[in-house]
Amino acid sequence: MSRYRGRFAPTPSGPLHLGSLVAALASFLDARHANGDWLLRIEDIDPPRCPPGAAATILHQLEAFGLHWDGWVTWQHDRDAAYRSALETLGSQGLAYPCSCSRKQWCDHAIYPGWCRNAVREPGRPVAWRLRSDRGLRPVTWQDRLFGEQRLDPAELGDVILMRKDGLWAYQLAVVVDDAHQGITDVVRGFDLLGNTPWQRQLQHALGLPEPSYLHLPLIMGDNGQKLSKQNLAPPLPQDDDAVRPLLHRALKALDQSPPPEMARAAVSEQLARAIVDWDVGRIEPDAERRPGDQVADSDAPSPR
Ligand code: GLU
Repeated sequence: MSRYRGRFAPTPSGPLHLGSLVAALASFLDARHANGDWLLRIEDIDPPRCPPGAAATILHQLEAFGLHWDGWVTWQHDRDAAYRSALETLGSQGLAYPCSCSRKQWCDHAIYPGWCRNAVREPGRPVAWRLRSDRGLRPVTWQDRLFGEQRLDPAELGDVILMRKDGLWAYQLAVVVDDAHQGITDVVRGFDLLGNTPWQRQLQHALGLPEPSYLHLPLIMGDNGQKLSKQNLAPPLPQDDDAVRPLLHRALKALDQSPPPEMARAAVSEQLARAIVDWDVGRIEPDAERRPGDQVADSDAPSPR
């Protein structure tokens, strides 16, 4: 069996918040508990969504929480040639095609109906590139480590976009190419990404790449009942140690790991050392969503700012 290699792959569209801390922490603990590597990839393929300085803030925030990664950071803005070569491979197998349709044209359909699959390409017209889902791709099945067996038919998935009309690479292609490039064996991330996994498995199959195992985690919801996210202006993670210690403890509780209450004020390195030894995925309740307060039993637990 290959050595465990996990990763955290944030999009630098803003600073990390409690929801992203929980995902980063789970993937870190899962890797370190298995004596594996934990890698960092900055998913900055969509520059208009990534304000200057956001990636640097993320690196500092991870360091403040003791989440030190192995090796060099992978930046998606450096990986253009790899994505291009994957698209060419798919194109040469007849599995990718250019599509000039706009979303408005097919808005009455649940998924893109594949109108451009056999269309002649009109020179000069902007096109997106899509994966053909009607060319013998198997139904996608996989075993999520928390949510159990998942199965989807390619016909329900539709022809996913690989490259956008504006020339930017699509997340699905980039993530698959990079997970393979970084030798990732285990993907641990939030439940909001579970719906992307069938496309990623389909692409791995089409490109002949190894299929990592997947663990999706319950999402942390804000008091307004919405997922904590940058769009919902979730408060950024603090970087000063006094605030970091109790918040780390709180993130461990959000992962159902029951850290001893007295550890809430312990040094970050001490909390993490204990959490690595104690890490047990079997303790995580498979809820799709939860509020950060749900697991907080002791009354003096601090709020995430
Ligand atoms: N970049 C994605 C995000 O920040 C995560 C990608 C992944 O973990 O596969 O939501």
